Amino acid sequence: MNAGLVIYNDFALREYNTFGIECTASRFVALRSGEDYADLLRSGLLRESPFFILGGGSNVVLPDTYDGVIVHPANKGIRLLECVDGRCLVEAEAGEKWADFVDYSIAQGWYGLENLAAIPGCVGAAPVQNVGAYGKEAKDVVRRVHCFDIEKGTECWIDAADCGSGYRWSRFKGEWKDRYLIDRVVFSLSSEFHPDVTYKALAVALDERGIANPTARQLADTVTALRDSKLPNPSTIGSAGSFFKNPIVTDSVYEDLKTANPDIVAFPVDDGHYKLAAGWLIEHCGWKGRSLGRAGVYEKQALVLVNRGGCSGDDVCRLANAVVADVEARFGVHLECEAIFV
Ligand SMILES: Cc1cc2nc3c(=O)[nH]c(=O)nc-3n(C[C@H](O)[C@H](O)[C@H](O)COP(=O)(O)OP(=O)(O)OC[C@H]3O[C@@H](n4cnc5c(N)ncnc54)[C@H](O)[C@@H]3O)c2cc1C
Repeated sequence: MNAGLVIYNDFALREYNTFGIECTASRFVALRSGEDYADLLRSGLLRESPFFILGGGSNVVLPDTYDGVIVHPANKGIRLLECVDGRCLVEAEAGEKWADFVDYSIAQGWYGLENLAAIPGCVGAAPVQNVGAYGKEAKDVVRRVHCFDIEKGTECWIDAADCGSGYRWSRFKGEWKDRYLIDRVVFSLSSEFHPDVTYKALAVALDERGIANPTARQLADTVTALRDSKLPNPSTIGSAGSFFKNPIVTDSVYEDLKTANPDIVAFPVDDGHYKLAAGWLIEHCGWKGRSLGRAGVYEKQALVLVNRGGCSGDDVCRLANAVVADVEARFGVHLECEAIFV
């Protein structure tokens, strides 16, 4: 092992998850360079004990204790690989904060990330759940992902087209779970700014600010302001952002729901399916602003579960189960968690 790879025992993760859950991991290792990744794989540690890859901890619910190795990608660096015919290939390391990467790219004149401004978490996790907001997703900009294959102990590039990215989903969350450790991601950005304001709430917000032709910075700032008005800031209120996915149902299920609930909020996704606003379903089960134990449903957005103070992973689990059961009983729709229980 190289001198830089330090393994900590009984490590407190309170500062490593946005829910602010007090969790102690029996072992913790931060990876600060490619050499650290290679050394960790060579050490055999990940074959001997359970492990979990923890980026910024903004999409996870931790238990009180984790008996295994928490692997924390913390390598930093952003570099321009090439800029040809208006296409800029930019490589960012896994430990870079996503929001900082977006801001840095805008400042450099590399465009395409504006709608994804201010999302918590790290670059390495972006392809895992295919982060998305305001009409854009990571898959629109990710070109390829560099990984360490934990099973084989080798390194590889995975093309974005092979990642199986969908709504808050990729193969990294499915069949590739626990197989790949992502150490860097290459993005395909544009040297020319073409704002994407197809998302209605974003267009309305720009209009309200009197901005007809936004600069990239103005677009990212408007997205950030919209997010701040709806989502809790993890530095003051613990959460994992949107806790549930918006369920996708068939046309006929939607039509039945619409007949029974004329004001239901839903959007067509393709020829035969609608995406229902999970927040609306939860709110109409009376959960908005309510608590169960030390976990609660956020007052401003029912899709978000929050830490009311000293909450544990079990508190969150109990609340999530109660919400899922009520939505199922009232609307016959099953809510899936977007956040990951560790
Ligand atoms: C207030 C708030 C708002 C949010 N808004 C949004 C939003 O608008 N859109 C959205 O999509 N998400 C949103 N999220 C969720 C979250 O920010 C994203 O899912 C983010 O990409 C998670 O990044 P992370 O580094 O915190 O990952 P973590 O939560 O640490 O991990 C998430 C998953 O990725 C895996 N992982 C992390 N890093 C790596 C790596 N290097 N290699 C392999 N696997 C890895 C983990 O094992 C885990 O399965 C929000 C969260 C909060 C708290």
